Amino acid sequence: MEMPLYSEIIYERPSVDEFRELAMRTRLRLMTSKDITLIESSLAEFQKQLSHFYTAQSICHLRHDQNTNDAFFSDELSFFEENEPIVKDLTAAVYSVLISSEIAPMLMNRFGKMIFLKAKYQKESVSPEVITELSEEAALENRYEQILADAQIDFSGKKYNLSMMKPFLESSYRDERKRAAQAVSDFFSSILPETDKIFDDLVRLRTSIARKLSYSSFVELGYKRMERFDYTEADVEEFRRSILRYIVPLTVEIRRLQTKRLEVDELKYFDLPVLFPRGNPRPAVDINEYPVCTGEMFRALFEKDPSFFDVLREHGYTDIVSRKMKAAGAYCMTLLDYGIPFVFMNASGTSEDVSTIIHESGHAYASIRSVDSSPFIECLFPTLEVCEIHSTALEFLSYPYIELFFKANAEAYRDQHMTEALLFLPYGCMVDEFQHRIYHEPDMTYTQRHSVWKALEGKYQPFIDYDGNEFFESGSAWIRQSHIFSDPFYYIDYCLAQIVSLQLWDYSRTKPADALVKYDHICREGGNKTFFEILRSAGLESPFSPDVIKRIAYVTAEYLRL
Ligand code: ZN
Repeated sequence: MEMPLYSEIIYERPSVDEFRELAMRTRLRLMTSKDITLIESSLAEFQKQLSHFYTAQSICHLRHDQNTNDAFFSDELSFFEENEPIVKDLTAAVYSVLISSEIAPMLMNRFGKMIFLKAKYQKESVSPEVITELSEEAALENRYEQILADAQIDFSGKKYNLSMMKPFLESSYRDERKRAAQAVSDFFSSILPETDKIFDDLVRLRTSIARKLSYSSFVELGYKRMERFDYTEADVEEFRRSILRYIVPLTVEIRRLQTKRLEVDELKYFDLPVLFPRGNPRPAVDINEYPVCTGEMFRALFEKDPSFFDVLREHGYTDIVSRKMKAAGAYCMTLLDYGIPFVFMNASGTSEDVSTIIHESGHAYASIRSVDSSPFIECLFPTLEVCEIHSTALEFLSYPYIELFFKANAEAYRDQHMTEALLFLPYGCMVDEFQHRIYHEPDMTYTQRHSVWKALEGKYQPFIDYDGNEFFESGSAWIRQSHIFSDPFYYIDYCLAQIVSLQLWDYSRTKPADALVKYDHICREGGNKTFFEILRSAGLESPFSPDVIKRIAYVTAEYLRL
């Protein structure tokens, strides 16, 4: 099939009635037939429609995010808010017949065990009596995203969105970055009452959904939704303890050295993003040249011409540079019907643009490599820690080619990237612990929630000095973290992936070709194995092991000369 241009892809609202009918027919076939060929073709037809629904949803999200002013796609988003829970419930009902079928062992032989594991978790995450609440949950999440997308920040006589403020937050002029940080925190202060309320509604809703599904709290349901097949809340707790023990001391040292380097008496919150006295390294290529440069980098890394990124770019599947009325954030979204990923982000001219474009490209690469790995769309992708290895590991494996973007500043970029990788780990754990606390005690008041965050900052970021900024001092910084609103319990996956990716980086320093083979292996696996199984098959160690974290702390500290 000729690859279509993104601009040629037509959006059409899927019919939920037809989907419902098909789901019923498929259920009936699964209940009555023992003919495996018949079951297979029936499931294939069901999969085709399911893929169709999610492809339409992805196109809708993309087109909305590319222009949040477009009223048509804003309306269509509400259609999916309402109907995705219905489709999920119908799908879970189909698969629940599959797993309880008399010939389940034979089917498992044919399709592999992952769809059975996933079906079980799906069934335990949804039921007809929570569908309305699931729609309300989606609507609240979209509301939060909309507030961030609408942000208009007054700065030096001009208006900016949040992504566009990044270069000012990293300014090498202390006064400028201080004013920028103040302007951004003023914006968040202004939305605080509404976001507090949205979050409170979300916590109540999620808790109510969990209880209706017979869980004691949303934590259990959150883990089910995240498809945690091989680790528990206790394992995650131990992981956070190891980060506290081995990584936090390194970050304290990083901040001490930063204070010296910047020649300031005290490192204030607005100094944190600036690691080098003359400012962080900026890409040497023009912001509009990023896509071409990225394509070139992957040609060199994967020794393939054109690279996968060149092909995506040439067909319009990338939207890289920030502009007004474009939704915030960065992601890679696969259009399942076409098997083509789309890379969306908001480049603003900072070094983070480069790590982000590589990160999202890693998701895109994996999506392409695993496009035929399963007959079930549910099993094309692994669980999210593994997806984040696809992306994060590529950031490290690209180190030898980063000169393409930064020329003489490449070394500074690598230093900054590695430093931020370490600084991220305690932050990620803090976001995770915060959510555990919140959902274990869903009745906390707004103020209590803010106090929890403040205490966690003391634990994981002991160096932080908010210089009397009221918004931050009151423990409100978490309202900036969209995952806390939209993707509960996702955040620790970034930390787990970071530790695995750092193993791959360490390995790549002596055996770059082998490291790339391991990386490619992980990408090709798709979602046919669990997290631990994929790690084992690639010869990598569990990030939950305190010894692994200790070793990573040692090699990264050495690399950064800490
Ligand atoms: Zn990612």
